[in-house]
Amino acid sequence: MQPESSNIPAAIAELQAAPPAPEPAPAPAKLVEVSSLTLEGLTRFFTEQLGERSFRASQLYRWLHQRGATSFDEMTDLSKALREKLKQRAEIVPLVKDAEQRSVDGTIKYRWKTRDGRYIESVYMPSEDRKTLCVSTQVGCAMACSFCMTGTLGLKRNLTPGEIVAQVHAVNREVRKNEHLETLRPLSNLVFMGMGEPLHNFENLKTALSILQSEDGPNFSHRHITVSTVGLVPMIERFGQETDVKLAISLNASTDEQRSKTMPVNRKWNIAALLDACRKFPLRQGRRITFEYVLLRDFNDSDEDAWRLIELLKDIPAKVNLIPYNENPGLGFKTTMDERAERFRELLCEGHVAAFIRQNRGRDIAGACGQLANRGGENASESPQSPELP
Ligand code: SAH
Repeated sequence: MQPESSNIPAAIAELQAAPPAPEPAPAPAKLVEVSSLTLEGLTRFFTEQLGERSFRASQLYRWLHQRGATSFDEMTDLSKALREKLKQRAEIVPLVKDAEQRSVDGTIKYRWKTRDGRYIESVYMPSEDRKTLCVSTQVGCAMACSFCMTGTLGLKRNLTPGEIVAQVHAVNREVRKNEHLETLRPLSNLVFMGMGEPLHNFENLKTALSILQSEDGPNFSHRHITVSTVGLVPMIERFGQETDVKLAISLNASTDEQRSKTMPVNRKWNIAALLDACRKFPLRQGRRITFEYVLLRDFNDSDEDAWRLIELLKDIPAKVNLIPYNENPGLGFKTTMDERAERFRELLCEGHVAAFIRQNRGRDIAGACGQLANRGGENASESPQSPELP
């Protein structure tokens, strides 16, 4: 392979040449990211690798996922010796709060810095009857939807299960502090609608869900967790078989032509294939699939669009969330006018499709849907990877 510097004048290449490398230090044994393990995995690590009894694993697990501990030192009911051993062999991967922005409507957008200097965001949305967190699953996103800001970043990497649940623990801590609450888990609902495509990081999502739903962890009910997907058809089937949480589909169009223009995923799995997967999706009693539909002015918001949508969804237990588009400079789409959105909703309801206009939260802080694209620091100059579909 040609060295990178082959077309650089020799003199400059010499100047750039690195000094001889010093003797490499012995690589430290890799630390186990304990915050990414299910209770079962942690128990195995304790009994098989550390030679510890399994109830110690349960103790650590509760520290990590019930109390949201971020260091071994705070785990005061573990012996000093065990804490030292853990420090040698294990780690809790941190998310450091980097910025926070508060909206007039109570929404708070948090930006976290990962250990490798990446930025991700989570959005806290309190209302009278629930406290919801919108969670990210990837740094950036490979799906490249043309109206979405995150899509312009490209995929940088998957978040680990520990980084996914750490968003929840960190915001629980913030809410306890800000709202003077004693309860360990003030958050009531989770929506996986932040940065990234959750089903493109399925294994880590699944592990994170299993931690978040566990009794020894935050114990979220499956009824209070929704995962939203762009429509990765083969993964929808696995998602239905391997998890029990709610499904939302970003439909965003009423014809393949429209959808393929804005959502490259549609060129691989079109609307028919997507809706077929929805029809086969194992729905629990009384449950419906949520279809998200971003209203784009003069693009997908006509009466004909509404009628086509009714036809598409007629044999699926569905609920449509109409999302007023949050304009992103440079992406070229416009927000549908309020009256048009209301008319669109009424048409769907007349066609017996339950439809709601989603209240737009955090618009003033760019914390609303599709606006989570804070590049931060040096990542700003990186070019996006091309989309790779499974
Ligand atoms: N990748 C997943 C999870 C992200 S959810 C998915 O696509 O479902 C993000 C939701 O916000 C999607 O329904 C998407 O269609 C919507 N969205 C993206 N950009 C938006 C914008 N600028 N305004 C409003 N909604 C947007």
